[in-house]
Amino acid sequence: MDIQEIKSRLTLAEVIKHYGYKADKHNRINCPFHDDKTPSMQLYYKTHTAYCFSSNCRTNGKSLDVIDFVMHKENSSKHEAINKCKEILGYQKPDSKERYQPELSREQFLGNMYQYFRNAVHNSKPAKDYLQHRSLDHKKTEIGYNAGQFHHGARKDENVIARCL
Ligand SMILES: [Zn+2]
Repeated sequence: MDIQEIKSRLTLAEVIKHYGYKADKHNRINCPFHDDKTPSMQLYYKTHTAYCFSSNCRTNGKSLDVIDFVMHKENSSKHEAINKCKEILGYQKPDSKERYQPELSREQFLGNMYQYFRNAVHNSKPAKDYLQHRSLDHKKTEIGYNAGQFHHGARKDENVIARCL
């Protein structure tokens, strides 16, 4: 697993949770890297970076990605931080319910996928309009719909995508 892959798989939220921090409602935590009385570290969940606004912090006004965060936290080299990131990814997977479940059979997996797309018909007016236009009753026919959002956002999971392919 290379650096790019780690960055695409390991979320900032997972790293924060791993070290037992809890962000406030502004997505801030007390900076772990200097003596911080008020939460000076801003977490950016979109970019998976963290930034400390204090001027006397050893992060020196630099934006931290997940690997940098781990590196500072572990007081380690980048190489060691990368291994630590792999470790975090490794043992978070089995107990995380949302993620790919390897024990599912091919049929069960496809069944879940079908259910997902079937529910999507129900939730989409354009899909229902289209089916009506084609005189297809989505309650009677086995039909699904993908708005093209399936593998985006929170559902972006490389394992699920690989399994679908
Ligand atoms: Zn700091």
